[in-house]
Amino acid sequence: MSYGIRKDFYQSKAWKQVRKNIWIKQNLLCYECGKPCYVDGLSDYLPKEKRRTGIVHHKIWLDNNNIQDDNITLNEDNLIGICLDCHNKIHNENKSCRKGMMFDEDGYIIKQE
Ligand SMILES: [Zn+2]
Ligand SMILES: [Zn+2]
Repeated sequence: MSYGIRKDFYQSKAWKQVRKNIWIKQNLLCYECGKPCYVDGLSDYLPKEKRRTGIVHHKIWLDNNNIQDDNITLNEDNLIGICLDCHNKIHNENKSCRKGMMFDEDGYIIKQE
């Protein structure tokens, strides 16, 4: 997938709005472990040391084919808000995460630099 498409998606207004909706719906709590997550603009009150990064995860992972399909990328039924730890667990359990790959801030698989 070209970096541009992915970047455009994660920077789109639509995505930012959906992501916000998810966190508000979940009261900023991780869907898996229930711990509070830090989300830009929503939890700035949290002291830095208590911040655990919140990520909105696509249950159906994004790929070349579905990245431009709003029914997948922006469908709230396909999205859960989870903390970075839980997010890593979910992705590590899946063998498709190969060596040399890592997750970016939005939980997207990218090549390790
Ligand atoms: Zn968690
Ligand atoms: Zn994910």
